[in-house]
Amino acid sequence: MDSAINPTDLAARVARLRQAIRYHQYRYYILDDPEISDPEFDALWRELVELEAAHPELRSDDSPTVRVGGFVAEKFEKVRHPAPMLSLANAFGPDDLHAWRERVKRFLPADLHDQLSYVVEPKFDGLTVVLHYEQGRFVLGATRGDGDFGENITANLRTVRVLPLQVPAAAEAGPAPARLVMRGEGYVEKGDFARFNARQTEQGERAYANPRNFAAGSLRQLDSAVSAGRPLKLWVYQALIVEGGPELTHHSQALDYLRDLGLPVCPDRRVFADADFATLADYVEAFGRRRDDLPYEVDGCVIKVDSLALQQQLGFTGKDPRWALAYKYAGEEAITTLLDIVINVGRTGAITPNAVLEPVQVSGVTVKSATLHNEDYIRDLDIRIGDKVVIKRAGEVIPKVLRPLLDARDGSEREWTMPPACPVCGQPLMRPPGEAATYCINTACPEQLVRAVEYFVGRGAMDIEGFGIKQAELFVARGYIKDLADIYHLPWDEIRQLEGYGDKRVDNLRAGVEASKQQPIHRLLTALGIRFVGSVVAETLAQRYASLFDLMEAGVEKLSEIEGIGPKIAESVRTWFAVEPNRALIRKFADAGVQVAEERVVTLAAPKPLAGMTLVVTGTLPTFSRDDAHAFIKQHGGKVAGSVSSKTTYLVAGEAAGSKLAKATELGIPVLSEDDLKRLV
Ligand SMILES: [Zn+2]
Repeated sequence: MDSAINPTDLAARVARLRQAIRYHQYRYYILDDPEISDPEFDALWRELVELEAAHPELRSDDSPTVRVGGFVAEKFEKVRHPAPMLSLANAFGPDDLHAWRERVKRFLPADLHDQLSYVVEPKFDGLTVVLHYEQGRFVLGATRGDGDFGENITANLRTVRVLPLQVPAAAEAGPAPARLVMRGEGYVEKGDFARFNARQTEQGERAYANPRNFAAGSLRQLDSAVSAGRPLKLWVYQALIVEGGPELTHHSQALDYLRDLGLPVCPDRRVFADADFATLADYVEAFGRRRDDLPYEVDGCVIKVDSLALQQQLGFTGKDPRWALAYKYAGEEAITTLLDIVINVGRTGAITPNAVLEPVQVSGVTVKSATLHNEDYIRDLDIRIGDKVVIKRAGEVIPKVLRPLLDARDGSEREWTMPPACPVCGQPLMRPPGEAATYCINTACPEQLVRAVEYFVGRGAMDIEGFGIKQAELFVARGYIKDLADIYHLPWDEIRQLEGYGDKRVDNLRAGVEASKQQPIHRLLTALGIRFVGSVVAETLAQRYASLFDLMEAGVEKLSEIEGIGPKIAESVRTWFAVEPNRALIRKFADAGVQVAEERVVTLAAPKPLAGMTLVVTGTLPTFSRDDAHAFIKQHGGKVAGSVSSKTTYLVAGEAAGSKLAKATELGIPVLSEDDLKRLV
């Protein structure tokens, strides 16, 4: 193709396409203000991909099409940083903030004080990186490492879509600087992080303890294809070297310049004159109060002297620059002593180590315990009993141990290892190869039974009102419940005699238990707590099998044929139903009158509700992520397309739907909400 075009024209066309794509990606990712529709963008993209495929001599690493290198590194190469990476002095309250300002002034001649102003930026909680551009091309990216040397993670950073591979993105920004070195922070938005972890958990994969670990884990993958699948973002927050660019005198000016080049610079930043320092302090506090509303995780603010000349004059104390301060929000984090580590047994038998802490106040609440996630978490962070540890409590979530203070050790600290036996039933614990969790695999373990009952009666499962952990503990302890089906054989007359269980309460509880017998079988299937079988998988299975007795006999192969059921899930379902006590449990449910089979008009080739339809999803949906929505559509027989065309059957639109919605309206294509979509199937 294109053989008629002469090579120079072709190269020029490719260059123009690349420039246009970079520009539109900048409008889309950085400014969040696209100028062209998705189909128009797709057309540019396709043309470039095709030209590059047909003319290998025109390929270039800096093409926006080349994000994933496709080779797996054995280990990371070491990179020396152009300047040592800084650590920052910490402040934990307004007093520290004012003290820092006084210190800054003490180190500067009085006649320079009127030049003082400050920049306040969020302190991002992610992985610090150093980025190198030469002649506008992204050539090297490294981790912070030990401060002097980092690891070369260029291939992984290339997969971060907000990071331009070539700057400037828009011609108005002027020519590319000859050399540009910056610091930045790789991070994940809270929503993306929660969705990612939920999926990992559902699939039995390792979840990350916090967004910072996620960012680090994603950017330090030896296979950049793994990084490419992660919803990573990046902020650039400091220019280290700018050669062949404008004369920069202030940090804030440098940030504006980087933003204009098309680099992702966080818009949440403000400059304050020294005279307005009280306002600055208020702003820092106010920012702390609204940080829960930000899409990204922030653990404080960074305050810097804006003038680069004054920065230089102020210099360093040891490794800390005198001109910058990290303001940590008090209340969220606290330091206390780790007195002991105990383990809890969950419903699947999973063992969670918990920290027993010397009680400490964190944002107005006394915290005595915190989660330590799993054995690896403790080992990776080298947390020892007796350590001073930093704990964090954010919102309503369980407090967690962030890290030990290694400097505070006196040698009396003890390493912890996972005990060999379950603390409740005494049976040996087991850690399956390749998994982070350790399990008590004794199905008769009473603690597991309590947790299993709690899960069974809970929301999303059998949903029995008035039945919770208290009832589960009581009924298991009194021997009323020995397996899940005993919930349907409770001795109600005896329960009436128990303290706190009046007639009315017992009648309500009993009515709830009775009503739950009519729950659809996917609810029962969820309630059983089979590994990897969450509500979505349960619905998928129940769609294919209207009777649990049929499902019980299904082999791995048959199960794997179902769309949305991978081999791991199939294996888990098969294994569960192969155990005789579990099969007996299903029979016992059936005998008690619990619905284990649904009457359905089943034809083997039952058409799926969305068969033959093509759907496009756009905007932010209330509960589905983009991937969830796509999976849901495919599961029900529909096709998913990336852009709206005359072939589109429906557009599923959420909040902030942009050009696709406009296009659908223009073409007269019906628009559905997430609820409409669910109703449709
Ligand atoms: Zn046990």
